[in-house]
Amino acid sequence: MSGDRRVLSFIFFGRAAILLSSGGRSVLIDPGVNLGLRLERLLGESNDLSCVIVSHEHPDHFDRDLVGRLASRGIPVLGSRYLLSGLSGAAGPDADLRIMRHGESVEVGGVEVRPFRAKHTGLGPFVVFVELGGISAFHGSDSGFTPSIRSSAGVDVAFLPAGGGSPTASVSESLRIARLLNPRWIVPIHGTRRELSSLAKKASRVLGVGTVVPERGETVELPLGD
Ligand SMILES: [Zn+2]
Repeated sequence: MSGDRRVLSFIFFGRAAILLSSGGRSVLIDPGVNLGLRLERLLGESNDLSCVIVSHEHPDHFDRDLVGRLASRGIPVLGSRYLLSGLSGAAGPDADLRIMRHGESVEVGGVEVRPFRAKHTGLGPFVVFVELGGISAFHGSDSGFTPSIRSSAGVDVAFLPAGGGSPTASVSESLRIARLLNPRWIVPIHGTRRELSSLAKKASRVLGVGTVVPERGETVELPLGD
C-alpha cells in the first residue's frame, strides 16, 4: 500500500462514542456514561487528542466527569452553549470550551467541525461533520433525518444511529440521511446488535456502500483510496 493512501481508523466504545483518528489527529465524539471509558486509555490510544465533541447533554452521550477531566488538561471541548455552561465549573478556568452553532464551522487543532441541528430531544442537539487528516466524517448522534443537514463535499464515513431506544433515531431515518450524504462507508452506532446489523445490511443492499458493524473497543481501519 502506498504511503499517501488515506486511512481512517476509529474505535467504537458503545452507544455513540467514537474515537476517530487520521493523519496523526484524533477526535473523541460523544463519550457517554457507563461505557467504561477510561481517561488513561483515551489519552494512550490517541497520540494527540485534538478535541472532544459532545452532540448533546443526554448522559449516554455526555460523561460530564470524564469530559471535565479532559477539558482540565487543556483539550478543547465543543458543545452547545447549554452543555458547556454546565461543564465550566468542573473543567477549571483554563479550559478551552467552544460553543457550537448551527452551520458554523469551528477549526480546532487542525480539525474542522461543522455542526448542524439534529432532529432530537434535549437542549440544542447537534450532528457534526468532522474533517481531519484529509478525511471527512459525519457523526449522526442519535438524530433522525432532518433537511437541516447540509453536506457540501463527499463524506468518507458516516456513523449513523440505528435506534437504541432513541425517540428519533431508527434504521429507516438513517437510510434517509445516508441517501443525502452518499458516504463511502457506513458504520452503524447507537443501537442493539440487531439494529446495527439491520442498518448495515440495508445500507449495503440498497445503497451499495461499504459497511462495518463495529465491535466495542476494537480498532477498525477503513481504507479510503487516494
Ligand atoms: Zn439524546
